[in-house]
Amino acid sequence: MEDLIKKAAQDLANAQYAIALSGAGISTESGIPDFRGPSGVWTKDPEAERRAYQSYGKFLENPKEYWEERLRAPSLLGDLEKTQPNPGHLALAELEKMGKLKSVITQNVDGLHEKAGTKNLIEYHGSYFKLRCSKCGLRIGSDEIDLQELNRKGELPPLCRCGGVLKWDVVHFREPIPEDVARRSQEEAWKCDLMLICGTSAVVYPFAQLPFLARKRTIEKQTTTESGLHVVKRAPATTIIEINAEPTPLTQEGISDYLIQGKTGRILPAIVEQVKRIRT
Ligand code: NAD
Repeated sequence: MEDLIKKAAQDLANAQYAIALSGAGISTESGIPDFRGPSGVWTKDPEAERRAYQSYGKFLENPKEYWEERLRAPSLLGDLEKTQPNPGHLALAELEKMGKLKSVITQNVDGLHEKAGTKNLIEYHGSYFKLRCSKCGLRIGSDEIDLQELNRKGELPPLCRCGGVLKWDVVHFREPIPEDVARRSQEEAWKCDLMLICGTSAVVYPFAQLPFLARKRTIEKQTTTESGLHVVKRAPATTIIEINAEPTPLTQEGISDYLIQGKTGRILPAIVEQVKRIRT
């Protein structure tokens, strides 16, 4: 594993436009369960997954009931207000500060990348702490609206200043990814020459398409044959590295170049240390 950590640091140091993708696995060391790992929420309670499939339909059908249910239901991920970023989140924020990482695209809704200090952050599945207008797309902080008070007064669902109905920003199953987020993520995936994929089972689509998109881009690379001939060939433009507790379909289908198997909270800080050594 130590050799792979050094290799990843060298790849990062060489990259011109590195980005990171993250999933629930990066937050397990902050005490938030993932969904599909051995102690995941869906692994332990498949019925909760079935219910989650109904949320978006409920919002479209009856937004008042959707909000009433949402205010009653306990959070599947625990008390996210209290959770703190772990060394994995902090390492990604540090790489950005060092100029080695251009953006983070996360599936997580827990706000921990932001708490860790990542600035250029795309929250692909929205944020637990925001509401989004279903008409104009405006996001507002959930602390800007007293939802319990609206509930008491029978004034749910909350409305945007444009008149549209506000939905929780978290993207539910069957809900389309907001257009601005989908577009920015695709641009980043297409542009990057290094993609660091941290703590995701890579089975949730369309997020899991981003590595496939990055893999499609090729560039011309010149090599010299033994006889001294210069040959120009098309080669993959992006190095794709996974850091995950277990292999994923990206590993199995050869989409990633290599997997560093283990915990993001240990591996990412070790990579940062190596990058610092290369730079000094
Ligand atoms: P997932 O649960 O499907 O997969 C998590 C992966 O991370 C698994 O392969 C697991 O083995 C691995 N893992 C767990 N702990 C790890 C660690 N410390 N280091 C390295 N790897 C580790 O998660 P997903 O792929 O992100 O998909 C789940 C969906 O559910 C996401 O779309 C996300 O929106 C949502 N979700 C979010 C949170 C959160 O915001 N923290 C938590 C659970 C689920």
